[in-house]
Amino acid sequence: MDEWVVWLKNQYTARCRWWKNREIRLFWEPDIDNSTVAVVMDEIYKLCQTIGISFNLIPYGSHRSAMLQMQSVVRGGQIDYNKLFTMAHGEDWRNENIGGREHGDIFISSRHLLNDTVSFGVASHQNGCILLSLHGNTQYHHPLVRRLARHEATHLLGLMVHCDKFPVNGYGEHHRWCNMHYQLPSGETCPKCMAFMRHFWRHHRI
Ligand SMILES: [Zn+2]
Ligand SMILES: [Zn+2]
Repeated sequence: MDEWVVWLKNQYTARCRWWKNREIRLFWEPDIDNSTVAVVMDEIYKLCQTIGISFNLIPYGSHRSAMLQMQSVVRGGQIDYNKLFTMAHGEDWRNENIGGREHGDIFISSRHLLNDTVSFGVASHQNGCILLSLHGNTQYHHPLVRRLARHEATHLLGLMVHCDKFPVNGYGEHHRWCNMHYQLPSGETCPKCMAFMRHFWRHHRI
């Protein structure tokens, strides 16, 4: 089993150890409902529990500094997530040399991703960031928000590819129902993807 884990691990060049304090901060724009945030947090706690890791999720709400970060990367009403993630990764709040504390960031917005009006989210393990793009009435569709939160959190926590992109001996064909497909077919993570997550945290992200 180790060979596929090594292959996946080589896909990353960790830019920081954002996970070392086991802390993830959540920020959302004023038009995102608290009930939506609660669903996101609940699903991520469940995912962590299943993987066997523990993260402290801290809801900061529409904190001014995060709102400024988000607004500064809006282009024509859409969010440039590459810029947002680079900014969050390099922010003083994470810099332990000047009194900050390493952590991951989750941003929730009702805006579209830049040049992408179909996707509902994007995540980066390297930068320790998620941006949920809950456009239209998406935020009120809680079952979808739950699937999405699990999907992006799985990316954030290390699995940067989708289920069909890493065949593994012993796991047969990929499961079409796995949450780690682009179309979010279900809220369940298949045994192969979950085995990767457990292995990843046990051996590579201690
Ligand atoms: Zn899978
Ligand atoms: Zn994905």
